[in-house]
Amino acid sequence: MNVKPSPPGTVKVPGEGRELGRSPEIPPVRLINGDWWKDEDLPIDWTRLLGKGALNAEVGFGEGEFLLAMALRHPDMRYVGIERFAEGHRKLVKKVRSEGAENVLTMVGDAYIILNLAFEQGVLDSVTVNFPDPWPKARHARRRLYTEEFFRIAARKLKRGGTLYLATDDRPYAEQAARALAAVSELISTHPERPWLDSSPYPVQTRYETKWIREGRVLHYFVFRRKEDPCPT
Ligand code: SAH
Repeated sequence: MNVKPSPPGTVKVPGEGRELGRSPEIPPVRLINGDWWKDEDLPIDWTRLLGKGALNAEVGFGEGEFLLAMALRHPDMRYVGIERFAEGHRKLVKKVRSEGAENVLTMVGDAYIILNLAFEQGVLDSVTVNFPDPWPKARHARRRLYTEEFFRIAARKLKRGGTLYLATDDRPYAEQAARALAAVSELISTHPERPWLDSSPYPVQTRYETKWIREGRVLHYFVFRRKEDPCPT
């Protein structure tokens, strides 16, 4: 990537004269553990912690390569990650530190719970869920992320016109996602002529995306927008 990381210290939000930066009151050990959010008043005041700028959430970021690359490309935006795999989370926190990215905060836990608790309604500019189930197994089917229940939560947390991005290599899972999305009337496809896109809408690849492209797998991407009308509460 030929984008320079933001310098350590603070980053000015263009035109805002405000500083972005991780709240100094979060102890480093809680940042590394990813459980700092349990001490916050919920939903979290993201402006206090990260300043202003578009607020983007990535769910199931793995080891966070995609999240960090996006955050470095857009130092004027805020990136929040949710991942239940604590070791992947820890690796990302270390990389975020060494790159000096001040616009990233990440949490460990189940995305159904965290998305529900940590974000107020209509606060997110985007929600991204990439390759959430790299080795689909029937026994995982119930807690999968491409469900009507999860998309309803995401729709409530997105602002009007906010974007939901999904990607999967698994055709049956793509079909499940398409059916679940169709049941959530607050979400509208940006590609209504086809159920999914076959080329990536992203400027950088995720770790699994790179792996699957190398293996020659067919990939499926979805870009949906939250409707402009108010969401039912
Ligand atoms: N998005 C990354 C990683 C994909 S692996 C990439 O594209 O490379 C899928 C990740 O999703 C795993 O790390 C898994 O722990 C996470 N995940 C799956 N379901 C989750 C859930 N309900 N809550 C939080 N993380 C979840």
